[in-house]
Amino acid sequence: MSAPSDGPAGSASEIFLAGYPGAALLVGEDGSVVCSNAKGAGLEALIEHEAAPEIQRMIETARTSGSTLAESVSLNSAKGKIVLEITVVPGARRNEAGGSEMLVMARDMTMERNLRTALVESRQRYKDLVEVSSDFSWETDADGRFIFVSPKGALGFKAEDLVNKKAEDFVLSPEEFSPLPFVSTRSLDNVEIWMHNKNGDTACVILSCVPLIGGEYGEEQWKGTRGVCRNITEERENESALAQARRREQHLNYIVSTIRDELEPHNMLNAAAAATARALGVAGCRIFRRGKDEAFKVAAEHGNTKGLDELESKLSALDGDDQLTDIVIGKWHVLATATNYRQRVNGALSIWKQSDDEPWDDDHLLLISDIANQLGIANEQISNHERIVALSRTDSMTGLLNRRAFYEEDLPRRISRLVRTRETAALFFVDMDNFKLVNDVHGHQAGDDAILFLRDLLMEVSRPGDVIARLGGDEFAMWLDGISPEVSEKRATRLIEASQSLKKFSGNDEKPLGISVGVAIFDPADKESLDSVMARADAAMYEVKNAGKGGYHMSSPADQGGEGESTEKPAT
Ligand code: GH3
Ligand code: MG
Repeated sequence: MSAPSDGPAGSASEIFLAGYPGAALLVGEDGSVVCSNAKGAGLEALIEHEAAPEIQRMIETARTSGSTLAESVSLNSAKGKIVLEITVVPGARRNEAGGSEMLVMARDMTMERNLRTALVESRQRYKDLVEVSSDFSWETDADGRFIFVSPKGALGFKAEDLVNKKAEDFVLSPEEFSPLPFVSTRSLDNVEIWMHNKNGDTACVILSCVPLIGGEYGEEQWKGTRGVCRNITEERENESALAQARRREQHLNYIVSTIRDELEPHNMLNAAAAATARALGVAGCRIFRRGKDEAFKVAAEHGNTKGLDELESKLSALDGDDQLTDIVIGKWHVLATATNYRQRVNGALSIWKQSDDEPWDDDHLLLISDIANQLGIANEQISNHERIVALSRTDSMTGLLNRRAFYEEDLPRRISRLVRTRETAALFFVDMDNFKLVNDVHGHQAGDDAILFLRDLLMEVSRPGDVIARLGGDEFAMWLDGISPEVSEKRATRLIEASQSLKKFSGNDEKPLGISVGVAIFDPADKESLDSVMARADAAMYEVKNAGKGGYHMSSPADQGGEGESTEKPAT
């Protein structure tokens, strides 16, 4: 029976229990509760209702053994499991009747127990996370020495190799930081730091940290720093390789589009040389083309080209294997490589800079090869273009200029030069006589042979610098630069004499193969048009045809209207 109802308030038993802050009660030798303090009601109820056999067993053990007992007892309650620390002190008090009473005290340990469990779990959680992380955690003291490094270690070092070492000794340029993040007195987030690796390489880490503040008597004092570093070296290397590749690609695109935008072949290479020198930031660039004679000829250049005369001769060693050659010429450091098309070296690309500059970097080495690949194609296109231009200008059978190239390109150029030099020239129109008969009687091949024979005759009577064209069929023209009318006539005479040898091709002796020649003198002083000169030469030639063929006719000068006096000399 409970004590508060048993005796008057402030009884000796109550006074005995009052000083204890937790639940406490006194139990008689028969195991019944004598008295409980204010917090002891619950415990009393448990014992009275025999709901806590553990406690009852303890009371019994203490009574029989006479020694104090302290144990943790778990109980199920409506709020879940509770843990009590029960202490039983036998003979704690002697009652008025002389009986001995046991003191039972209970302390609720549920919260402490839960807290401890939570703390252990949380500690384990952080320990696990730190250990599985590829990052490294660390803590420094106020001297900037590592006092903790996560067990895996860092930067190739074991954790124990780092502990007690100054963090500063592992940082690449500690002077760049003020203060060093490893001894920061404030929180930092994602600071990039380059550090020394154990193998002597450098490593890039991203650091985040918090300061450790503490001290006695409430004095706030910085004690060290704690943080995490993530090694991002690989990411950085990948990023920079990617950025470099992207920059190279941009440069190459710039150069390729510069080449592509130029339609005129020579401009194409000039633009490529300028774009290459600019994009690569070098002192100059020279592009070569290699012709059939295997010699490298400068096709385009840009920048400072002084003192590089001997470069061509040094290129002969270049082969088609994309090989780069490093040549020092005077103050220049030249990097050169061959340009290819289908394994044939068709030119070369060279860039240069002062020989005391830094050595060539990867960008230069890779880009010059990439550009050379493009120029290999460009050089080939230019050669093709030149071949097509040459074909469009010549007569395929005789190799002489064709009518278009003769009238539209060659003569206008010659005439403007003569206007400057004030020299006269002569235009010869030559048409074979009775040529059709050669074909008819001896066949087309004999006709072709006669045409080639006449070509050779014309070449024999011309001088270097004169030009001969096949206007079509059996019609030829010859332009003799800087020749006087008198000498022209002598030349015409010689030609008619030489044409006697055409007779052997004749289809019919009555109508022998020969030539009719009309000659017109061009004098820049007359300001005569080319059309007019041509018309006079043509008319002079027909004069001969009409007069029975086989001779020459000198057209009258332009100012006499082309129909004036003329001389005509038939063949003898
Ligand atoms: P004429 O004396 O009046 O000049 O007459 P012709 O017989 O020389 O004939 P004409 O000049 O009027 O015609 C030239 C002929 O040349 C016509 C054509 O069949 C022939 N011919 C044109 N080109 C070639 C060629 O490449 N080879 C050969 N074998 N014959 C050609
Ligand atoms: Mg003819």
